[in-house]
Amino acid sequence: MIRFFNQLKIRLFNKENQVYNYCPLCEDPQTFFKPIPDFYIESWKKHQYKYFGSGEMIALKTYSCSTCGASDRERLYSYWILKQFGKKLFDYSKVIHFSPEAALENQIRSKFKFYETADLISDAVNHRVDLMKLPFKDNTYDFFICSHVLEHVIDDKIAVKELYRILKPGGRGILMVPISLALKNTIEDIENEDEYFRWQNFGQFDHLRLYAHDDYVELIKNAGFCLDQLDKTYFGNKIFKLMGLKDSSILYIVEKK
Ligand SMILES: [Zn+2]
Repeated sequence: MIRFFNQLKIRLFNKENQVYNYCPLCEDPQTFFKPIPDFYIESWKKHQYKYFGSGEMIALKTYSCSTCGASDRERLYSYWILKQFGKKLFDYSKVIHFSPEAALENQIRSKFKFYETADLISDAVNHRVDLMKLPFKDNTYDFFICSHVLEHVIDDKIAVKELYRILKPGGRGILMVPISLALKNTIEDIENEDEYFRWQNFGQFDHLRLYAHDDYVELIKNAGFCLDQLDKTYFGNKIFKLMGLKDSSILYIVEKK
């Protein structure tokens, strides 16, 4: 861990204290962060998306890494995951990654002794699963990553309970969803399949809801999880800036005690 931070320091602040962009996935010193693809901006405008720009985490102007394509949130997950190695449980973790993000999967696959992937639709995974009915025994995994999946699932309460069930006591997970800072309560409509309606209200054609922070926290805690909300205060202003993250970003780490 100390070595990791020393390397980071050398890489980021060498010549004349010049600050570089930092992507923990590719660590390319020449990288820069690209805006979110035009497709999203155009789709949000076209459908008059009601909550445009209010995402807790989406860094519209510094969204993806120019070198490896990692998104803002992938950079935060990667940074946190790398910091966990060296801790006893993590090194020997049995890990499952739901709907795996490509750049993150490439980076962490070989780092864990036991790493599996799962998805509802994709064939390029170890397990084809429905998050509401996971085909795993209780207390199977030490760690999971489940990011931006729950907003696609019909019953997110059941899905979060399933994640709790398959995790070993003491196990942890990265559990993330799209959250709008403009919302006081989570909005949801699992019946209306109209794509225009979904773009307009939830910001994407296949999302069934858009989360509000407090309701999301309640959803997690009601399933039995303990929750750590790691924000800019935890990671530091400097690393948020280097990684091109939005100031309001929060990393949700759940734990089964
Ligand atoms: Zn990168």
